[in-house]
Amino acid sequence: MRSGPQSRQQLAHSTGLDTSTIARTVPALAAAGWVVESVDRPVTPARGRPGKRVRVRHAHHLAVGVKIGPEKLTGAVTDIAGGVIVADSLPLSSREPDGVLGMVAEMAQALTRRGLELVDAADARVIGLGIGVGGHVVEGRLVVDSHILNWRQVDVSSTVARATGLPTVTLNDVNALAAGEHWLGAGRRVDDLAVITIGRGLGCGLVLGGRLHAGTSGSAGELGHLPLLPDGPLCGCGNRGCLEAVVSDQAVVAALRERLPGIDIRDFHDILRLAEAGNPVVLDGLARTGELLGRAVASVVNLVNPALVIIAGEMTSGMDFMEQPLRRATADHTFSAGWSECRLVIDRSGDELWARGAAWLAIRAAVRRPAILSRHIEVGG
Ligand SMILES: [Zn+2]
Repeated sequence: MRSGPQSRQQLAHSTGLDTSTIARTVPALAAAGWVVESVDRPVTPARGRPGKRVRVRHAHHLAVGVKIGPEKLTGAVTDIAGGVIVADSLPLSSREPDGVLGMVAEMAQALTRRGLELVDAADARVIGLGIGVGGHVVEGRLVVDSHILNWRQVDVSSTVARATGLPTVTLNDVNALAAGEHWLGAGRRVDDLAVITIGRGLGCGLVLGGRLHAGTSGSAGELGHLPLLPDGPLCGCGNRGCLEAVVSDQAVVAALRERLPGIDIRDFHDILRLAEAGNPVVLDGLARTGELLGRAVASVVNLVNPALVIIAGEMTSGMDFMEQPLRRATADHTFSAGWSECRLVIDRSGDELWARGAAWLAIRAAVRRPAILSRHIEVGG
């Protein structure tokens, strides 16, 4: 699926299954609508028998992703190659869990209908729903703690699955993104990567040795809560001086409001407008933010030595004013060859990024669901 159309021989090689298992499995998967096997293009007789290749029917299997943000829901439908078919967003009037989860279910159902209409194939179907939440999420369902939403012990997947009838999986939003980038995005074939997100919070998802690293209790990658500044501002987590308390969008807004008391600054968009107009205080503030972010990237590089760092999230809209100091600080503070062997990608796609990450999570869960394989593969039979 991730490698494009393959012959049966190539499939046997890439999956490690023997050719007789492949010979039984391909027709079964084709009968179930997952793959088609066809001749790719005319092959000249001189090159022997026309080669058949097996391809996944991407557009016939859709996944829905919803990111629950502090102010809005962002949703998308993708095909199983990860391409976005339709996306939408919905403002939240309250963060009360029951109401929000009801809206998530409604959004997922509306997106399902629109996705199926757009694909317009009689046998198209939705294979699952992925939900991304900022915070500590365990067991693919339970939000243990999200200070951004002010939620504790909320069973997201069970509630939404009951309402929609869709297999539902919930994960920390940044971990969903990291797993998705590794599986279908810029991190394919990269075994060690970090996705660092900047926006309302500062998040980090890690793929180490080819696997998502969630840690012992599922809270790895909380880069935003590195306790860096003993006398720093109060963080949303209740501690003082966390990195997130100086690098998030709200922290930058608060700091620049203090430095520019005569100017009405409501949000990060206002800051960008002032930066574009050349306001020297704002330019200095954004450069400082870029430098702090660069130090954060260097911390991650020094700790886990990744081959790829992807920076994403809402604040990448200000990257024109932050990228240079970010790269300089990263280079200055990375030990030995860690930085020269690491690629930095800045992904500026907006809100859709999060919903896409959540949908990718649903695809990953669906193709890993044992029922799909056991129904079609009888290994060693
Ligand atoms: Zn904190």
